[in-house]
Amino acid sequence: MVLADLGRRINSAMSELTRSNVVDEKAIDNMLKEICTALLESDVNVKLVATLRNNIKKKINFKDQGPNVNRRRLAQKAIFDELCALVDPHINEKGEGAFKPRKDRSNVIMFVGLQGAGKTTSCTKLALWYQRRGFKVGLVCADTFRAGAFDQLKQNATKAKIPYYGSYTETDPVVVAAEGVARFKQEKFNLIIVDTSGRHRQESELFAEMVQISEAVKPDQTIMVLDASIGQAAESQSKAFKESSNFGAIILTKMDGHAKGGGAISAVAATNTPIVFIGTGEHIHDIEPFTPDQFVSKLLGMGDMRGLVDHVKHLNLDQKETMKHIEQGIFTVRDLRDQMSNIMKMGPLSKMAGMIPGMGQLMGQIGEEESDNRFKRMMYIMDSMTEKELDSDGKIFVSEPTRVTRVAKGSGTSVIEVEQLLSQQRTMARMVKQVGGKKARPKIKRLRA
Ligand code: GDP
Repeated sequence: MVLADLGRRINSAMSELTRSNVVDEKAIDNMLKEICTALLESDVNVKLVATLRNNIKKKINFKDQGPNVNRRRLAQKAIFDELCALVDPHINEKGEGAFKPRKDRSNVIMFVGLQGAGKTTSCTKLALWYQRRGFKVGLVCADTFRAGAFDQLKQNATKAKIPYYGSYTETDPVVVAAEGVARFKQEKFNLIIVDTSGRHRQESELFAEMVQISEAVKPDQTIMVLDASIGQAAESQSKAFKESSNFGAIILTKMDGHAKGGGAISAVAATNTPIVFIGTGEHIHDIEPFTPDQFVSKLLGMGDMRGLVDHVKHLNLDQKETMKHIEQGIFTVRDLRDQMSNIMKMGPLSKMAGMIPGMGQLMGQIGEEESDNRFKRMMYIMDSMTEKELDSDGKIFVSEPTRVTRVAKGSGTSVIEVEQLLSQQRTMARMVKQVGGKKARPKIKRLRA
C-alpha cells in the first residue's frame, strides 16, 4: 500500500528530528521539506501541502516558546494535528453531514459515484456493517442502466443475507428506487440503501437522472463513493457530483491497493465533506469507519487500539469450547482449527497488525501474504479431516499414517504440511497441558468417525 510508504516517510522524517542533537529552525525545515515532498508525491494538492507546512511552522515557532519547551514533542504534535486537519473538513464538529442512522426510524441512504468506483460493493459492505450492529437493513438496486447490475447486487446481498429489491423488467430507475424504498419503509426497515447507476463520465442527462432519484427517495444522506487510486482527477469529479447530488459523506474505496490516496484526500478538502468509511479490500467485511485521528495514528504506525477493540467485539468469536478444553488441559486438532478460523475472521493479518502499535512495520518485514497463505493451507488441511480426527489429540495420525496421506491428498497440500500442522497442534497441546489441566482430566470424547 503506497499510503503505508507515505506513513513510513513521514515517520522517518520525524525520527530524524528525534535523533538530531539540536532542534533548531534548520532541523525543522529539513523535516518539513521531507514531509511535504512525501505528501506531494502521494498526489496531495499543492495548495493543501503549502497550508499544512505554514500551519506547522506557525505552531512550532520557537521564538514564542519558553526555554523549557520540549521542541521535539511540540513538533510531533503539530504534525499529527495538521495531518488530521488535512483529512478532516471539521464538519463533524458542527454536526453537519454527520452520518448517524437511528434505529427508531427508516433512514434512506443513496449511493452515487463513477462506474467502477466500488459503489455496489460498498453498498453491501455498509449494509452488512450496520446489520451486524442490529439494524434492519434493505438494499435497493436502482441501476437499470448497466446490464447485470441487479444480479451483482443480488448475489452480494444473498451472500450477506441482506434483503434486496430490484427489477428485471422496469427500466426507469426512478420508479424502481421509489418502489423499493416504499416497500422497505412499509416493512419498518431502519436502513434502506439505494444503489444508483454509475456514471461513465460527467454526462448531464445521467446527472439529471440522479437528481430525479434523489427527489423520489428523499435520502437522509447521500454518499459519494470515490476510488482512492484515481489521483488528481478525484477533485474535479467530486466537485461535479457535489453540484448535482450535494452528497454529505464520502466512502473512499481501494485503500488496500496501490492507491496514493492523496488525490482523494484533496477531494475531501475541495468538497468540504467528511469521509465516513474506507474500503480496504474486495471482501465483504473489508470496510472500516473513518476517523481522522485513528487514520493518522495508523498511517504513522502508532496503532489504533480503539479500532481493534471495536473490530474484535463485532466478530462474534466462539471461544467457549476451546476455553473449556484448555481448563481441562486438552487441545484437540479441532481446537486448533477453531482458533485459526477466529484469527482469519479478523481479516488479513496486516490489517490487524496495523491496529497494534508498532506491529504494522514489523509485519512489513516478514511478509503478510506468506503468512495469510500458510494460514489458508492449514485450514484446507483441517477441513479435509473427519470429525473423529478433528476431535482427537492427533495421535491417531501416528498410529494410522495413511490418514496423513489421505488428508494431504484431499486438501491439495503435501504430507510434510500435514505433519507440520500436527506438530504445531502437539506443541500447543503440551503447553495447554502445562497451563491448564490442573483439574480432573477427562478422556477426550470419542465422536463419530
Ligand atoms: P461500481 O461500478 O461502482 O458499482 O463498482 P463495483 O462495486 O462493481 O466495484 C468495482 C471493482 O472494484 C470490483 O472488482 C470490486 O471488487 C472492487 N472493489 C470495490 N471496493 C474495493 C476495495 O475497497 N478494495 C479493493 N481492492 N477492491 C475493491
